[in-house]
Amino acid sequence: MGKVKVAINGYGTIGKRVADAVALQDDMEIVGISKTRPNFEANVAVGKGYAVYVPEGNEDSFKKAGVPIAGTIQQMIDAADIVVDCTPGGVGEQNKHIYEKAGVKAIWQGGEEHELAGFSFNSEANYSDAYGKDFARVVSCNTTGLTRVIYALDQAYGIKKARIVLMRRATDPGDSKKGPINAIVPSPIKLPSHHGPDVNSIMPHIKITSTAVKLSTTLMHMHSINIELKKKCTAEEVVKLFEGRPRLMLIGSDVLSTAEVMELGKDLGHSRGDMQKNCIWKDSISIDDGELYMFQAIHQESDVIPENVDCIRAMMKLEKDGAKSIEKTNRLMGL
Ligand code: NAD
Repeated sequence: MGKVKVAINGYGTIGKRVADAVALQDDMEIVGISKTRPNFEANVAVGKGYAVYVPEGNEDSFKKAGVPIAGTIQQMIDAADIVVDCTPGGVGEQNKHIYEKAGVKAIWQGGEEHELAGFSFNSEANYSDAYGKDFARVVSCNTTGLTRVIYALDQAYGIKKARIVLMRRATDPGDSKKGPINAIVPSPIKLPSHHGPDVNSIMPHIKITSTAVKLSTTLMHMHSINIELKKKCTAEEVVKLFEGRPRLMLIGSDVLSTAEVMELGKDLGHSRGDMQKNCIWKDSISIDDGELYMFQAIHQESDVIPENVDCIRAMMKLEKDGAKSIEKTNRLMGL
């Protein structure tokens, strides 16, 4: 079988990273990416060798700007085996009928509702359920980060109840238009937040509640996690459990804040300085009266990227074994 042909519809924060991660795999290739405007990102995409496709009627603006295009978004979709839809939340929904009509598989991101795809994905928790599926949704950055730890803990000890406080970044670093400048915003004010129920879209049996605030920062999200476990365990055992998981990284107390976590990502030579694994402060892992406490930082721009690669592999039946796909994705992405 030749390489699976992947189209990236929406080339922003998530789309450009998924494109680069797919391009690193030996069993899939990028047939094209879509851009709505001929800005600097379109030029960089051309420089990377990606074929750029544009909405019908927008061809002239790209020609005027001197950005070479390969065709329309419809032509890109027709040339693909699977589309990774990375358009802004709510926009992806409008594309479903186009994918259905073209007979291509599609993956949406966490900005869309679970019901759109009818299936929500996390590599470790439900890879095998994605095998051969036509539609899937890779859950949001926060839900991905929560699912990775909750799945590991649930497998090892069982979970009675999880209580999560999310401290959310206001917007992404490349966005100059949004975000509280000097405020902490209860978001949403009506509690609990949607993050707990979103974890339930993958693991319905977990009892979980969450609250969230938005902060004046763009770097990362932070989670304060409190989980009542069914079986007794020590903090050392939890550390050992996490050390054995493929997408959890334990960090030391010398990494003082999300600022140092991002510096670490750059020092490690990760593309764009990304931190695709959960960054868990080892010394924060504590057990008190049968309850686990811990802090983790989540890099919103990148933690869902390896999950998208695994999701493609499962849906296209390239690999049956989730652990093998995770290992391959991690290795080829240099994680
Ligand atoms: P973004 O705004 O950075 O990128 C979206 C891109 O899609 C932009 O380049 C935009 O021009 C383009 N676009 C808009 N309408 C389009 C259309 N009709 N056809 C083709 N392209 C179109 O958004 P993002 O942050 O990459 O988010 C994409 C999805 O990923 C959303 O569902 C979001 O909720 C989810 N997500 C975002 C983050 C994050 O922190 N940025 C993390 C996890 C998941």
